[in-house]
Amino acid sequence: MNQALIEQIKNCPSLPSLPSIAVQVLDLAQKADVDIPEIARLISKDPALSTKMLRTVNSSFYARSKAVSTISQALVILGLQSVKTLVLGFSLVSNLSKSKSNGFNHINYWRRAIYSATAARVIASKLAMVQQEEAFLCGLLKDIGMLVLDQVAGDKYGGLFDKATSHLNLSELEAAELGMSHAEVGGYLAEEWKLPAMLAAPIKYHHSVDQVSDPALKKLAELVGLAGRCADVFVDTDPAPAIVNVRQIAERTFGLTEADCDAILADVGKRTKEMAGLFEINIGTAVAYDTILKKANEALVQISLQGHMQASQLQQQNEQLQERVVTDALTRLANRARFDEFLAEKFAAATASGKPLALIMIDIDKFKSVNDKHGHPAGDAVIQAVARLVKVASRATDLAARYGGEEMAIILPDTTRQHAANVAETVRRALAAKPIKTPSAQLPITASFGVACVEPGVPIKLPAHLIKAADLALYHAKNSGRNNVKVFMPKPAAVAA
Ligand code: GH3
Ligand code: MG
Ligand code: MG
Repeated sequence: MNQALIEQIKNCPSLPSLPSIAVQVLDLAQKADVDIPEIARLISKDPALSTKMLRTVNSSFYARSKAVSTISQALVILGLQSVKTLVLGFSLVSNLSKSKSNGFNHINYWRRAIYSATAARVIASKLAMVQQEEAFLCGLLKDIGMLVLDQVAGDKYGGLFDKATSHLNLSELEAAELGMSHAEVGGYLAEEWKLPAMLAAPIKYHHSVDQVSDPALKKLAELVGLAGRCADVFVDTDPAPAIVNVRQIAERTFGLTEADCDAILADVGKRTKEMAGLFEINIGTAVAYDTILKKANEALVQISLQGHMQASQLQQQNEQLQERVVTDALTRLANRARFDEFLAEKFAAATASGKPLALIMIDIDKFKSVNDKHGHPAGDAVIQAVARLVKVASRATDLAARYGGEEMAIILPDTTRQHAANVAETVRRALAAKPIKTPSAQLPITASFGVACVEPGVPIKLPAHLIKAADLALYHAKNSGRNNVKVFMPKPAAVAA
């Protein structure tokens, strides 16, 4: 919170105050032995307020079969809570709408307010919530901080208002340029007025619901936030993004379907006209939701297409990223991490099923001298060419990997020692048969191969033992003059050593 701004708000002479009738009703309603007739008398003393209240109570929202003709009756039929909330709403709106505009459009402000309020009540009713009155009032007053900022920051606020591309964007601009958003300012005012938490919290947090921990208050704050997005549908010049927003938020927070949203918005469109009349708020020509939706349909299809494209692009990027994590950049073979993971997985499967699992370790012969004589790029080209042969020799169920440096490996599930030895021999021969093209020269290259296998009766208990066995065979191949294949013959002592 911006303390300097709070001071300015406190000292602002034109700051909206809680109307005295509201203060008195709230006071009386709070007493332990509430005097209902006294409250009725108090409200009835204000003819303008009483008339508005009775018209509201008899409006389609309450769907009474019999008309309510006195405030006393209204109190009995609707209950104290509803009447109290209505008094607050009416008295505040008539007080606030008198305040002069400094920099921003008050007609639009009140249009948004009455659409939000109606939407909040329609959604609350759809969700069968008891706090429909509170929802309405929160919707009506949630942006009250804008009126305060308009009084305090005047032209500067008008500037922000003109710059903002949407209501949500306005909230961000306020926080960035004034140090407080209208929601925080409204929340501050509601607390100053000692409004109940059911009203103050949703006003304060309607743009930051994650900060509310009490579940009931959070639900109301979420509802009021959603109601604001519903209002956008009717007041924004381009309603399509607002419709998308409503659908997304409604689904995410309340599990409402697209059809639910359309029904809610259609209802909001219809009822707001009546509500605006009761509150003497000018909403201009009220356009039905059907008409808005028809106009927005093409844009909605575009937005949805873009969404799908973004989703599939994102999926593709994720897959590419995933692949990069497990792939060696030079050879495009699996990298060491993937080798370890695959070996552990297949080792466990082989141990469980009793099927054989073979491993071929491959090491390029005298590779250091390729680097020394022909340079690193030539060395890289050799590694890549050997990798291609290794890849071609492996089946889809095998894993060809770069084990490190100029060493490669093939893991062959469900494969006998003999079969693996044949695979190794095929690669060895293919490599030895043809020189490899490098940027500097055509180079005759050979490699040595070590083969080992886990089979029933072979005392290899861990993946590391299998690697060690293949390494021993490879070492043997190197010692036997290189360019050959050696197979590890299990001698329990050799593995355990
Ligand atoms: P041996 O026949 O006994 O295997 O001899 P060698 O020269 O192949 O063996 P050594 O392990 O001594 O040399 C491996 C060399 O591989 C050393 C290292 O500089 C080189 N090397 C490792 N990774 C790369 C790489 O990514 N690119 C290139 N160009 N060279 C690499
Ligand atoms: Mg080598
Ligand atoms: Mg080596």
